Amino acid sequence: MILKLYNSTTSQKEDFKSISPNIVSMYCCGPTVYDAPHLGNFRTFVFYDLVKRVLIQNGFEVNQVINITDIDDKIIDKVNSGAIGYKELTAKFNDMFLQHSLSLNIQEANQYPKTSDHVEAMIGFIKALIDKEYAYNVDGNIFFDTEKYSKYGKFVNIENIDRLESEDDGLGKKNQKDFALWKTWKEEDGDITWESEWGKGRPAWHTECAVLATQSLGKTIDIHCGGVDLKFPHHENESAQVEALLDSVFSNYWLHSEHLILEEEKMSKSLGNILNIGDLLNQYSAETIRLFLLSSHYRSKIYFSDEKLSDSSKMIDKINRFVKSVGLDTLDHNGDTNPSGDYLRFVESLNDDLNTPEALGIFFDFINKKNKKIHEDSLSEEDIEESKKFILGFNSIFQIIHPSVLIDEEVPEEVQKLAFIREGMRDKKNWEEADRLREEIEKMGWLIEDSESSQKLVRKK
Ligand SMILES: [Zn+2]
Repeated sequence: MILKLYNSTTSQKEDFKSISPNIVSMYCCGPTVYDAPHLGNFRTFVFYDLVKRVLIQNGFEVNQVINITDIDDKIIDKVNSGAIGYKELTAKFNDMFLQHSLSLNIQEANQYPKTSDHVEAMIGFIKALIDKEYAYNVDGNIFFDTEKYSKYGKFVNIENIDRLESEDDGLGKKNQKDFALWKTWKEEDGDITWESEWGKGRPAWHTECAVLATQSLGKTIDIHCGGVDLKFPHHENESAQVEALLDSVFSNYWLHSEHLILEEEKMSKSLGNILNIGDLLNQYSAETIRLFLLSSHYRSKIYFSDEKLSDSSKMIDKINRFVKSVGLDTLDHNGDTNPSGDYLRFVESLNDDLNTPEALGIFFDFINKKNKKIHEDSLSEEDIEESKKFILGFNSIFQIIHPSVLIDEEVPEEVQKLAFIREGMRDKKNWEEADRLREEIEKMGWLIEDSESSQKLVRKK
């Protein structure tokens, strides 16, 4: 089966081909560790996880790097505000990022390189760019010279550059398009500084990622991912440095996920409309949040609302009831040797540029079909086997079935007794009393699912 991915460099879906036959190198721009992450950040991180899981489903081994940006203006500003030291601040939010990633069932990356551990390599990289005359020094600030690099404009039309975001103004760069590779020390930087042959200072963000990516994965990588707001200038500038210096293609595929929108505004900290992921995890299960994020296509905007999260929660209840109905007792997915037609269509949707809403639709149609059989008492052994396989394949991507769902909870004696009485009422067609007993049982935390010949007790979530 062919995996198709939308490549931002060509603005179209392309067949995915890796450089090495079975291994995919994947670089993902990680968090800037200065503040608590919000749901918008984690939309991007769950998207990285989706890409990785679909690659694994396609038989690839994935070598994934997520960097930790721990040298940045926002970090310096926060340290200068006085409440917390540099090391303490960056360690705190680095840990928080890893902890929330774990909570949201995001697979661990192979490496999480921190900017501050690789400043020497960044200095060497900048020096090489100066030697090749792709960079110049103005009073200790080093800039990339976009005039010298004819391929600048991978993601944008540079004729319209005047209307695009401009950075590092006022530092003496020659051209509006040029960007900083190294920023010279200022008093407010305090101790957050490194020695270089151009004096004290620190690497700039675009250089940090360019060096961490090539250092950990080589000069050409398979897939580079990020949120759509990183396309320009961050990815443009990362790519320009690497391709100018190494004369190679930096990444064969560039994948970008869209924004999460709250009240018509893009969710980013600068706009102040923050939905702290830690707070959300206190209100909703990780599975609910994950399903909410994956229920939209990664290239579509997601609009946040409590209503949508509660819809996701109901969808999870339905999936869990189905998992119990077919008696699933493990979540270990060992690949699928004999997939059904429905499951193949599910995989095809994911291979069509990670179409999660379509894949979810196929999964729910499948559940509805099998639930109908359950109610008609006609679910066969093959149906059960097919369902188990589909659930495991589904969960290997979506990761929204909590292991506790598998453990068959003992039904309390009192509930069993009422259910027994209710069954008698059903036999006598005393619907009124049967309904009253159903309500009573529900108040005790159990749901009754009726089929034509029997009833089944399911724990209410
Ligand atoms: Zn980056």
